[in-house]
Amino acid sequence: MTARLIDGKTIAAELRGRVAEAVRRLQHERAIVPGIAVVLVGDNPASQVYIRNKSKAVAEAGMRAFDRKLPAHTSEADLLKLIAALNADAAVHGILVQLPLPKQIDPQNVIAAIDPAKDVDGFHPINVGRLSFGLPAVVPCTPLGCILLAKTVHASLDGMQAVVVGRSNIVGKPVSQLLLAENATVTICHSRTRDLPDTCRRADLLIAAIGRPEFVRGAWVKPGATVIDVGINRIDGIDGKTRIVGDVNFAEAREIAGAVTPVPGGVGPMTIACLLVNTLRAACAQNGTAPPNF
Ligand code: NDP
Repeated sequence: MTARLIDGKTIAAELRGRVAEAVRRLQHERAIVPGIAVVLVGDNPASQVYIRNKSKAVAEAGMRAFDRKLPAHTSEADLLKLIAALNADAAVHGILVQLPLPKQIDPQNVIAAIDPAKDVDGFHPINVGRLSFGLPAVVPCTPLGCILLAKTVHASLDGMQAVVVGRSNIVGKPVSQLLLAENATVTICHSRTRDLPDTCRRADLLIAAIGRPEFVRGAWVKPGATVIDVGINRIDGIDGKTRIVGDVNFAEAREIAGAVTPVPGGVGPMTIACLLVNTLRAACAQNGTAPPNF
């Protein structure tokens, strides 16, 4: 059996279109234009690519961008001053500080300084705590994207056996919390997990967020399962060119799974689309308007 391909590119484009429509309505009916400040410190080339893509998507959605580029030697105190100014700026509904930050800056201090209502990355301890309490929270973008993709295959995740490989604060843990909120039965695996292949084989829904190219083999996948591959790994191809692969061996998984995300073109495009969703929701919440349901 060849698995159905979960086309993240198309699903993300549709979601961005719905966000753009909601932004137009918000502007027309309430004269509110959602605004996001993306803060980049230094000149990490990967971060610059992400930021360029984010800025393009923000503009296409009809939102306002307040991008701030600071030199690599910026002090933590100066960055915190900028965050305080953005917190106080009513036109800025979302603040995203691009990680990693230069060594002299503690990312936890910076994340904690962002107003939780403007924390569109969902990394602030208040949002993390609210999510784990099952309370309304700003949810991290990549995990939200994983859930939205899984829901294109399964109308409900209720009662499903979900296995998440990876327990990072930005993917593994929050996606596990979201699955729990969807009433899935969740198993979280990591580098100390024994019998990882056997555990993965129990999954109706398998989410891989490991950071190791093609680590999850086809034989680890339960026949008919849904596989969401978060990994983005650059490897050298046989033609000498670099190519991007996920954490799952796609060719193998495709023969066994019921549905699988490709890399690239799966979870990746959903991350930026979900950032737009979070910014729109933040703008609505800060203006006492009910957010649209996505
Ligand atoms: P981290 O390195 O922070 O976490 C990796 C996790 O994988 C850890 O919990 C680690 O376990 C676990 N792990 C590592 N080796 C093994 C192993 N041999 N067996 C089982 N578990 C293992 O990575 P991230 O969560 O930040 O990212 C994961 C992947 O997702 C990366 O490829 C990254 O590029 C990609 N990514 C993609 C995004 C997107 O937009 N699509 C966004 C964010 C990330 P332990 O905790 O025990 O060390």
